[in-house]
Amino acid sequence: MNLQLTDEQLMLEETVYRWAKNEIGPLQEKIDEEDWMPPGLFRQLGELGVLGVAIDEKYGGAGLDVISEVIVGEQMARICPALTLSFGAHSNLCAGNIHLNANDELKSKYLPPLVKGEKIGALALTEPGAGSDAMGIRTRAVLDGDHFVLNGSKMFITNGPIADIILVYAKTEPERGPAGISAFIVEKQFEGFSVSRKIKKMGMRGSPTGELSFDNCRVPAENLVGELNRGVQVMTRGLDIERVLVAACCLGIARQATDYAIKYAGEREQFGRPIASFQMIQAKLAEMYTAYVAARALTFQAAAVAAKATRGGKGTDLTQMAAAAALFAAEAATKVCSDAIQIHGGYGYCLEFPVQKLWRDAKLFEIGAGTSEIRKLVIARELIMKGRIGTF
Ligand SMILES: Cc1cc2nc3c(=O)[nH]c(=O)nc-3n(C[C@H](O)[C@H](O)[C@H](O)COP(=O)(O)OP(=O)(O)OC[C@H]3O[C@@H](n4cnc5c(N)ncnc54)[C@H](O)[C@@H]3O)c2cc1C
Repeated sequence: MNLQLTDEQLMLEETVYRWAKNEIGPLQEKIDEEDWMPPGLFRQLGELGVLGVAIDEKYGGAGLDVISEVIVGEQMARICPALTLSFGAHSNLCAGNIHLNANDELKSKYLPPLVKGEKIGALALTEPGAGSDAMGIRTRAVLDGDHFVLNGSKMFITNGPIADIILVYAKTEPERGPAGISAFIVEKQFEGFSVSRKIKKMGMRGSPTGELSFDNCRVPAENLVGELNRGVQVMTRGLDIERVLVAACCLGIARQATDYAIKYAGEREQFGRPIASFQMIQAKLAEMYTAYVAARALTFQAAAVAAKATRGGKGTDLTQMAAAAALFAAEAATKVCSDAIQIHGGYGYCLEFPVQKLWRDAKLFEIGAGTSEIRKLVIARELIMKGRIGTF
């Protein structure tokens, strides 16, 4: 399917898919079974040139846009959603947000090693007591001379156990609520930072998730990203793009599950003929394909709006479109994987067949980057707000 991609974008699509198939494909089982990340993965991705797809060439990036990031995310997730999740936390949540929001000094210091994959990035917002209610974070940052001192803990942080550079949100003026949150760059060797534990998960195995601790962690004052108490602006600018990329990863999962189901339906015989000849199996395949192409069209439309917004264009639809793309693509991917398991019958329920793994991976995207419920609230809020002054 073309979606009017340029020759350059089609080449990127082909390059990333081929790389993932050859380099990661053979490691799939080990990655899932052992919750293992291939050593040197980020350096390889750096050499491939995909860690800074949307980052300025000045900082070592490719200077492309969100559409290209979506292409990379979809193609990588067609082979390994878990490593795509880690790739996204590094290149979008950490590097992308630094690129969008930090001053030139911080960008020059932190982006080149992230883009080359010499350092690994993460973003830490969620806390044990604050998930959907992100404004309820309790991590504190108090100015002490030329440092901020951070205290608190962060939960479910992708790449947390292996990250060198972490974008951390903390309350600088708790009494001001959302207007008292700031963002900081923390390096893993800063005094007072530690990884409390690696969390075991049902899916996305191979992407390390951790709980992080800040115990009088001293962060140089110049590592403040954006303005003091304006962390929510940093958060929301990045969140829209994160949701578009979540949708991209769901496309890769749905495509992979559909491919497996088509192949199996052609090979498996019951009642003396391939199950693909039964109309109820055909209906499932048709619905899986339809969900995938619909999700893909919506995701690329949201990516086009995001690309326009990051170029300084109008992009007023971005928040609702990004949330809609993530909502639809994530629910579509989970349903497609569930149908793929059904088509595989008992074998689909067994660990030797990969469709169950895809379902376990897909489920995360109804939860991470704002749950499906929160995405619906975001979309409705935007529609109601815009409805007051006209139409969406
Ligand atoms: C594998 C994994 C990786 C992650 N990576 C990161 C990361 O890199 N960085 C980071 O900061 N965070 C990360 N997260 C955290 C993720 O963003 C949160 O899990 C998510 O925002 C939901 O928060 P919660 O888990 O605390 O659920 P809760 O907020 O406790 O929600 C529980 C349930 O209540 C529902 N609910 C809550 N509020 C409402 C409401 N107002 N109306 C209706 N329903 C509601 C939710 O939809 C959900 O169904 C990750 C999570 C996972 C599982």
